Amino acid sequence: MKLTEILNSDRFSLSFEVFPPKSSTAFDSVQKAVEEIARLRPSFMSVTYGAGGGTSRYTLEIAREIKERYAVPTLAHLTCVSSTRETVRARITDMKAAGIENIMALRGDLTPELEAVGLKDCVYRHAIDLIRDIKALGDFCIGGACYPEVHPESRNQKEDIAHLREKVEAGCSFLTTQMFFDNNLLYNFLYKLRESGIFVPVIPGIMPITNGKQVERAVKLSGSFMPQRFKSIVDRFGSDPAAMKQAGIAYATDQIIDLFANGVKNVHVYSMNQPDVAKKILENLSEICMRR
Ligand code: FAD
Repeated sequence: MKLTEILNSDRFSLSFEVFPPKSSTAFDSVQKAVEEIARLRPSFMSVTYGAGGGTSRYTLEIAREIKERYAVPTLAHLTCVSSTRETVRARITDMKAAGIENIMALRGDLTPELEAVGLKDCVYRHAIDLIRDIKALGDFCIGGACYPEVHPESRNQKEDIAHLREKVEAGCSFLTTQMFFDNNLLYNFLYKLRESGIFVPVIPGIMPITNGKQVERAVKLSGSFMPQRFKSIVDRFGSDPAAMKQAGIAYATDQIIDLFANGVKNVHVYSMNQPDVAKKILENLSEICMRR
């Protein structure tokens, strides 16, 4: 099923993200987490590509399993900046053969080497180059990434949104946001997107922070602003794993309820292979998710 069917319906949707294992030895434990999350029947599941320490070669395998074994609609991520055209095209062809209908088209983060020399020798400099290839190779529903707090490489938000509009014009049918911890930043961003003529569904990405150590990593990776309310939770409970997990899930739930209450229909949860976290969030929203 193409995700646009879900995103454009009048029901709330809640989706979860998983990442592939670092090595074959971890495959079984990831597979178990994937199964448990899939059995919660989320609106769809996304599988990252080489992000969060996962390797790219398992993305397709896991995405196919989610779709075929658990009948949950799937979104397979694909990055391009460090790849050759042959590799990328082979991955897209494999996805098509496996019946994957939805691809998240990403540039990928720059390696330290690329940061040093720049993108001039790269075949794929930006996600838009990948979007064009995906479009040319099949009838996929394509998603793109967007940044309510501006991508760290952008000079300013105006420029970032102008490039985003180009991605949409090139064929992105929906956008998923980087994590954020202050919903007002998202509302301002949505307003600016509409003002810039971007009207595809935008799925806010919510990261439940469930341990103190994760905070530093998440902020470094995303550059997200930490509201005082969230800082206080981390200061008070960061060194108490059980309490931090409960508070982090409650904070993420609160963000999602506020989003739904303010007109957002689709939310993506960066569930990070944690079925217990995904389950708790769904339980917290069980009545709300039944509503239109
Ligand atoms: P782009 O759209 O290419 O944007 C990158 C920068 O270039 C921005 O500053 C943009 O304004 C600018 N830009 C865009 N187009 C142009 C242009 N034509 N000319 C000049 N400048 C331009 N990483 C992974 O490795 N694997 C994953 O699975 C993964 N999943 C992600 C999912 C989401 C929802 C998000 C938000 C990020 C994800 N990432 C993942 C991280 C992502 O790869 C990085 O954020 C990366 O730095 C940018 O990717 P992008 O697709 O947004 O790039």
